[in-house]
Amino acid sequence: MTTIDIPEGSLFGLDNLPYGVFSTPGTQPRVGVRVGDSVVDLAVALGDDVFARPSLNAFMAQGYDRWVEVRARVSDLVRGEVPADAVFPVSEVELHLPVEVADYVDFYASEHHASNLGRLFRPDAEPLMPNWKHLPVGYHGRSGTVVVSGTDIVRPCGQRKAPDEAAPTFGECRRLDIEAELGFIVGVPSPLGSPVSTEDFPRHVFGAVLVNDWSARDIQAWEYVPLGPFLGKSFATSISPWVVPLLALEAARVPTPEQSPEPLPYLRESSPWGLDIALSVSWNGQEVSRPPYREMYWSPAQMLAHMTVNGASSRTGDLYASGTISGPEKNQRGAFIELTWGGKEPIELNGEPRTFLLDGDEVVISATAPGTEGRIGFGEVRGRILPATEAKR
Ligand code: MN
Repeated sequence: MTTIDIPEGSLFGLDNLPYGVFSTPGTQPRVGVRVGDSVVDLAVALGDDVFARPSLNAFMAQGYDRWVEVRARVSDLVRGEVPADAVFPVSEVELHLPVEVADYVDFYASEHHASNLGRLFRPDAEPLMPNWKHLPVGYHGRSGTVVVSGTDIVRPCGQRKAPDEAAPTFGECRRLDIEAELGFIVGVPSPLGSPVSTEDFPRHVFGAVLVNDWSARDIQAWEYVPLGPFLGKSFATSISPWVVPLLALEAARVPTPEQSPEPLPYLRESSPWGLDIALSVSWNGQEVSRPPYREMYWSPAQMLAHMTVNGASSRTGDLYASGTISGPEKNQRGAFIELTWGGKEPIELNGEPRTFLLDGDEVVISATAPGTEGRIGFGEVRGRILPATEAKR
């Protein structure tokens, strides 16, 4: 048996206990919990085969009461002695995609982001479209290209046509961007024909991850009318390897900004709550933005209620992301298209004026939130841009 040392000020203390999927050389991926700088193998520590699987899905599907029970058991266990063969230094494990992603939806829930993009794309019109304050706008993304942090991102190719060009051309994306977001993972499914109410949100959603919704702005700008994002988004979406349970985020709950006009009844909550999560975006090692999740207009419960109000089912492993997180200040914008105002106002990065991503660039998004004892961490979602591969024209 062994004991787990949690360094003073660790973002992975007993009030966090996020779940992930890990492996060590020569072994199969399985479920672990991060404690301090260690990973605890839950199949060994708890003697339960549901954790011997290469994703969290089977455990998440067991439901809310089980999530509470396992969290309490893990908390008790790691305060005492743990079987020595269940504990690994986090630096010695490989982290995998934590969930088998079922469907993937991306919302657009930041009023600051939606307003900024409105001003950029439609300078002579109202920044927000007429529907924006009545429903959480979203689109269906591509679950099969959700990848774990650390996966290289190959610059996509596609059709693009700048406003001053007569015809589209095919080639490498010239305006490759990021979107700093928070993603919610559904644990308990809902059957076809059964909308999930805002009150039922905590019994369906298991936890949250960081998301980088890589975006090819030139491909997106040409293709998105009238049906929305497609190939400008679907080449890759990165998520962080640790799923922070909603149970660890109770101290981070904050009211959403005031919602006016009042939403329709199915979107109402007695008191809509968001999360006080502070994100940080680093570009080649330099912090360029600090997006505040607490500024998001629509709550996570409202997004799930909207996603299912038409009777659409939800499945274990569904991922729905918040949309780009931007605050009111310039240094709180969660995408480079906003930070550089459409590429017209470069930012200084390590002494160079920069707008969009170049090959070899690396972006790291991290986040922390209040826990019950100190701050808790989400870890990070990291990705490096590789040059476009020669594609068939
Ligand atoms: Mn997005």
